[in-house]
Amino acid sequence: MKHFPIFLSLEGDRIVLAGGGDAALAKLRLLMKTEARITVFACDPAPEIITWAQIGRLSVQRRAITQEDCTGAALVYAASEDEVDDARTAKLARAAGALINVVDNLEASQFITPAIVDRDPVTVAIGTEGAAPVLARAIKAELESRLPTNLGLLARIGKTFRKAADVLPVGRPRRDFWSDWYFRDGPRALSEGEEAARTALDDLLDRHAARDAREGHVAFVGAGPGDPELLTLKARRALDEADVVIHDRLVTPEILELARREATLIDAGKEGFGPSMTQPEINQLIVTHARTGAQVVRLKGGDPTVFGRLDEEIEAVTKAGIAFHIVPGITAASASVAAIGQSLTSRGRNSSLRFLTGHDMKGFADHDWAALARSGEVAAIYMGKKSARFIQGRLLMHGADRATPVTVIENASRPDQRVLSTTLDALPSVLAEAGLTGPALTFLGLAPRAAQAALIRQQELA
Ligand code: SAH
Repeated sequence: MKHFPIFLSLEGDRIVLAGGGDAALAKLRLLMKTEARITVFACDPAPEIITWAQIGRLSVQRRAITQEDCTGAALVYAASEDEVDDARTAKLARAAGALINVVDNLEASQFITPAIVDRDPVTVAIGTEGAAPVLARAIKAELESRLPTNLGLLARIGKTFRKAADVLPVGRPRRDFWSDWYFRDGPRALSEGEEAARTALDDLLDRHAARDAREGHVAFVGAGPGDPELLTLKARRALDEADVVIHDRLVTPEILELARREATLIDAGKEGFGPSMTQPEINQLIVTHARTGAQVVRLKGGDPTVFGRLDEEIEAVTKAGIAFHIVPGITAASASVAAIGQSLTSRGRNSSLRFLTGHDMKGFADHDWAALARSGEVAAIYMGKKSARFIQGRLLMHGADRATPVTVIENASRPDQRVLSTTLDALPSVLAEAGLTGPALTFLGLAPRAAQAALIRQQELA
């Protein structure tokens, strides 16, 4: 770098220019943008220079420049377009200790004037050290077209706006705010005047402050059993505001429909025993999206806290320092018991209730079979289809009554809901016969209130 770019404060300083022709005019037009005092030395100045002198933008001396004229000047320009004359000016300037620029003569100059994109107070200076003036002009043209013409005014309005620093943290939130101001909201608002622009700036900050407060957040949301009307109002709102929705395969398309149109939907579907995405991969997915500042909705079938590996996901999220909250949902047991017109608890029948999983990570899950085998017990068995024979065997072994009522509800709350009313004895064969394909919940110790009606329906379906 032969020339070091700096922005020189010239307020109240003196600039001296020797010359009165076209080169002088070109330089003066630029120099008059500064706040310097300009003196032109020319025996025969162009009419524009005389006019500028008359309106007080510069002063003119109709004589040749002397060393004394250069003394104390911040900058001296040799712009007479006469080689000998300019060399003389350069010599005088150097002797007086002033910085000299000889127009169109890089070698003789101590400093050069760059190509400038002027959006005062935003100034872009482009220099090629004389190597490629064409390139400098091309870059200038490119920037001119890219930078809003009123960028300077936007910057001036922005400069006096201190609130942003109080409200938005440094880094991305503040960068995004100013970027929106300079390139989107600002130019648009300025077309309606400066006052409108100031109001727009306030509005923009409010929007960004609200956005920032919600930054990088994960909502673990219960999608319920499938009927969109069984979503909570909070779940609806979370879906409305989501940037990213990461959902289970259990979540129905009708519910996904309710997600914000711009939201990214990701199927982290896990089915039965064979997860298509591993739990660590899902954890990572959630964290990665939240880290971009997104409002992530982790949408889980039923209630997220029931057999949903929620704690593992929460651990990943908290480890990453990301805020979260849980929106409970209607769990399959609630929807299923509603489907059979029963109560999960009943005075005189069961004073406790168990939610079981048919299988866990090791295979068929073990439980307190002796307790479950007692008459009057009620248990809601999740993921119990494949383990039906195992569960039956364990319960019978522990003395359960073969006639214990068992009800299987497939697709609870959905249009294709099915209810199989049976006994512990017949459970495996009834299940095998029915060939269920949807999610199904098994109630141990509960029969549909209108068991008869359900049986008729079952026969109709068969
Ligand atoms: N968090 C979910 C349960 C996830 S485990 C909840 O609270 O409901 C998945 C199991 O839930 C399924 O194997 C099935 O046993 C049960 N399930 C989920 N949705 C169901 C539905 N609509 N009808 C019946 N069972 C359902």
